[in-house]
This record gives sequence, C-alpha cells and structure tokens, in this order.
Amino acid sequence: MHPKKLFLFDFDGVIVDGMYEYWHSSLLACEKYLNSQDICIDQNLYKQVSNIFIEMRPWIKYGWEMLIIVHEITKTENPLNNNNKINFQNKYHQNCKEILLKNSWVSEDLQKCLDKSRKYQIDKDFDSWVKLHKPFYEVIDFIERIKKYKINSGIITTKGTIFAEKILERLNIFPEFVFGYESGTKVEIASKLSKEYEIMGFIEDRRKTLVDIKQNSYIRHIPCYLADWGYLKRNDKNNLPYEIKLLKLKDLGQLVAN
Ligand SMILES: [Mg+2]
Repeated sequence: MHPKKLFLFDFDGVIVDGMYEYWHSSLLACEKYLNSQDICIDQNLYKQVSNIFIEMRPWIKYGWEMLIIVHEITKTENPLNNNNKINFQNKYHQNCKEILLKNSWVSEDLQKCLDKSRKYQIDKDFDSWVKLHKPFYEVIDFIERIKKYKINSGIITTKGTIFAEKILERLNIFPEFVFGYESGTKVEIASKLSKEYEIMGFIEDRRKTLVDIKQNSYIRHIPCYLADWGYLKRNDKNNLPYEIKLLKLKDLGQLVAN
C-alpha cells in the first residue's frame, strides 16, 4: 500500500463553472489575434454567452477548440447555429480538423491566441477576469475537508497551468499538484502519480477521459466519478461502463465518509 493518499479533480466544470470566461476569452482571442476575414464580432456579443456555444461546450476538450467554435458562430456566412449544430456535433472532430485545414491554422497557434487573450485580461484587470468564473463551493469545501483525512488533492486540467493556479489561489485552494495541458494527457499524469500515491478517486466531467483511465490496465483501479454538475452531453449519464459512478454535488461528502 502507498502511504500517501490523493484525490484527483478536473478543473473546468468540476471546480469552477467558467462558461462566461470561455466565451469571453475566446471571443476576444478571435477578435484580437485570429485575423480572420470570415467573422464579424459585434461588441454586444460579449454581453451574453451564446446558447450554441453552451451547447457545444461538452464536446470541447482543449481550449483551442473553443476558438474554432466561436469562429464558426461569428462567421458572416454559414454560421454555426441551431439548424446545423447537431450535424456539427455528430462529426465534431472531423469538423474541427477540416476548419483547421481550411484556414491553414495549427492547433498550437490557436491555443497561443487563447492564452494571450487570457494573459491580456489578467494584466489589465485580474479581478474582473477571475470573477468570470463561478466556483462550485461544495467541491471547494470537499478539498478542504479531505485534508483532515490526510488526503492530498491534485488537479489535472486541459487549461494552461498558470491560469488554473491563478483562479485556485483566489479561491484559497492550494492543492498538492496542478497539471495543465503542458504536462501531457490525463492518463499519463494519473499513471505517474499512481506510482507514488494511492489515488482515492478522480472526479471529472468528461466521460471519455474516465473511460480512457478505465481502459488503461495500469490505472484502471482508480475509482472514477462523472461529475453530474459539469458539462455533460445528453447521454453521458446513461449506461456508464467500467464501474464509473455518476456523482452529484450533494453526495461528495460520502466519498470520504467511510
Ligand atoms: Mg471538465
């Protein structure tokens, strides 16, 4: 048995609801850094998150994909809208790939545009930027509570580490680890951590990520929980495989009760 215990958490959709921030930062990135002739960004768009964007969020894995979605929503011709969103979702990865190709973009550059947009806002007005995130206080309390059981907490996110850390600091959460997209895939990170820690659970709102963990023979013993308060696709909660459990905010406490 490992002497040290650890609980793992995803960040977006699990610790914070950052929907408004995703929309705001992606719009700003498209407006300021993308140089696309195909889009028109009206300042009124910043006032309210597009419903299409909210509906697309469960499909998004990496930040750069948000720029693609915002680009498609703000196109002057053939924008992504209610009529074609299902088609887009059905071939989500293929569509993203085709849009990259068509515009001669590479994902790393789009990610840099998003990171620059976040950095710009942080330098200009850090508090306003942080306030775009709504914390799930039940999760924050849980992270605090597990300390009493001598359980460490680790956050693995597809965000840049620096941005997650800035928000966590403001929420007064100081986890043992924060791993961003720079550190590799979540499966890789969990595998490394499992050499040193007994991982008590992983709370994540992306079903596919949990399935990947369960399909890896080295880490399939990690108890996996799908956060039902996160960004889920319509059918994500149904027929969960590999003993992945659906978790509600009110049931968090039970994870360490026994
Ligand atoms: Mg998430």
